[in-house]
Amino acid sequence: MSYFRKSIHEMSGYVPGEQPGTGTRFIKLNSNENPYPPSPKALQVLREIDGEMLRRYPDPTAKNFRLAASKVFGVPDDWIGVGNGSDDLLNLIVRAVGEPGKQVVYPYPTYVLYRTLTQIQEAEFIEVPYPEDYQLPVGLLIAAQGAVTFIASPNSPSGTAVSIADLEKLAKELSGILVIDEAYVDFAEANALELTKKYGNVIILRTLSKGYSLAGLRLGFCIANPELLAQLNKVKDSYNVDAIAYAVAASAIADQDYKIANAEKIKASRSKLAISFKELGFQVWPSQTNFLLVRPPQGDAERIYQTLKARGILIRYFNQPRLTDKLRITVGTEEQNQILVKTLTEIL
Ligand SMILES: *Cc1c(COP(=O)(O)O)cnc(C)c1O
Repeated sequence: MSYFRKSIHEMSGYVPGEQPGTGTRFIKLNSNENPYPPSPKALQVLREIDGEMLRRYPDPTAKNFRLAASKVFGVPDDWIGVGNGSDDLLNLIVRAVGEPGKQVVYPYPTYVLYRTLTQIQEAEFIEVPYPEDYQLPVGLLIAAQGAVTFIASPNSPSGTAVSIADLEKLAKELSGILVIDEAYVDFAEANALELTKKYGNVIILRTLSKGYSLAGLRLGFCIANPELLAQLNKVKDSYNVDAIAYAVAASAIADQDYKIANAEKIKASRSKLAISFKELGFQVWPSQTNFLLVRPPQGDAERIYQTLKARGILIRYFNQPRLTDKLRITVGTEEQNQILVKTLTEIL
């Protein structure tokens, strides 16, 4: 007996990376947060928030943010939708499309939330295995013909790139919606923005959590044609983005120079860190993100995760098929990365 729907009772909820209390002195490399502070211009806007702005309800469409994003990405502002993080937008999409009998399709392993949201909606999930080289299994994804297909591009937790040509094949051949989740695009060489202009079924998801150092603010956005956005709009909470979030985010998104400079630092650190891991005998997947998927020489990932944690360094261990011998490690500051490598050298 349960008070709740059978599907809710039976599913296990999404488990986010551990967030140790502020004040605890962990080196936190488990949630792919940006190690650098947010844009000084965005922080200035935050300091100037006044009470009158908070007394009123926020603008349900976050027009100021959408205008700022519209300039940066060269799309009309009615092609942009906002969410309380891109997780909120993922939720809206699954709620608007998913129901019993409908299929949600994505490659595996990828972002676990796609499955969780599908289960809540009692739709069916189809997980198409990625091959070991993480080339997108395009043929199988097309054959599955999901009502919605999710592709994290670049992928997490592998960190690997997804070919834009492969995404275009999907866009062309799928009769359902194709969601391209570009949470890590700020650290990648390519993006799929053009596909949403060319194909009526493509939704691009972006977030300020990773590239813009604003994970705590909760602002994600999508770029898609207004007909798709109109349907998602019916599902969303009117005030899903608060007034502080969109004011700060508008300033952060306009400060592209700052974001790009941080991403360049992180990409340089990523290359150095990958070399250090290889020297320690780890297998390292090629990354286009702000993290690395690695396999320790003995495959004893859980032990290394626990040992690092005991020494004040948090990384991510996934107790899931194909991942139990691997670790996902966020690229930190140069100093954090050096402590990580030194500690690992001692542990091995
Ligand atoms: C971090 C992440 C998100 C969620 O980002 P928020 O905007 O913070 O909700 C979405 N998709 C993937 C693949 C991510 O890694």
